[in-house]
Amino acid sequence: MNKRDFIKLTALAAGMSSLAPTALALDFGKMLNAGAGLAKSASISDDELNAYFDQMTVQYDKQNKIADEKSAYGKRLQTLVKGLETEDGLKLNFKVYETPEVNAFAMANGTIRVYSGLLDLMTDDEVRYVIGHEIGHVKAGHTKARIQTAIRTSALREAASATGGNVSALADSQLGDLFEKVIRAQHSQGNENEADDYAMAFMKRRSYNSKATVSALEKLAKISEGSSAGWLSTHPAPAARAERMKNQLA
Ligand SMILES: [Zn+2]
Repeated sequence: MNKRDFIKLTALAAGMSSLAPTALALDFGKMLNAGAGLAKSASISDDELNAYFDQMTVQYDKQNKIADEKSAYGKRLQTLVKGLETEDGLKLNFKVYETPEVNAFAMANGTIRVYSGLLDLMTDDEVRYVIGHEIGHVKAGHTKARIQTAIRTSALREAASATGGNVSALADSQLGDLFEKVIRAQHSQGNENEADDYAMAFMKRRSYNSKATVSALEKLAKISEGSSAGWLSTHPAPAARAERMKNQLA
């Protein structure tokens, strides 16, 4: 696939989420002023955070085409993640989004989604690296830290408190905005290295081919020439990361 086609397909795949932010940015600005005082002083429980992630999961699953478990994509992923439902003390659930975008993401509530574009690009062990990397983000609490910040600086929590302490159902626009800030925002290099180190240990622990960490990142580096869409927009610097993984192979 040439670069232009890749960008076009990615833009198509990301259509829904890239249309929304302009309208949502306005909302969020208002919420920021309204909620900052109250939310900063209050602690946010894990249950509450997970309730927001659960709502985001339901909404995003609705917006994307989920591969049937009997389809080729569905079967392949289920085979790759068999036995990982309670990996490392986490409760995980996996699905494929049928979209050509080369992407995958995880949320603190254990939701892990892999896009069919990534499955098409990668071998089984390379997909296992990506899954291990995403589990690493969950284990290290990276998306949890982000949603805490997003909620603290918004009025979402004020709305929740007003309903008597229960977590209120957020509007689609609020969930979409949280998704942009918590899932589609770029991870820091520190977070990336931490998730990569976790993925390397995961590959070794389960006796998968750990060289796939390097080849997966090299593939991503190759398609990133001139473009940084999909997984690359949230997971930067694949070439440097491939080098880091190479040094951990022994
Ligand atoms: Zn990452």
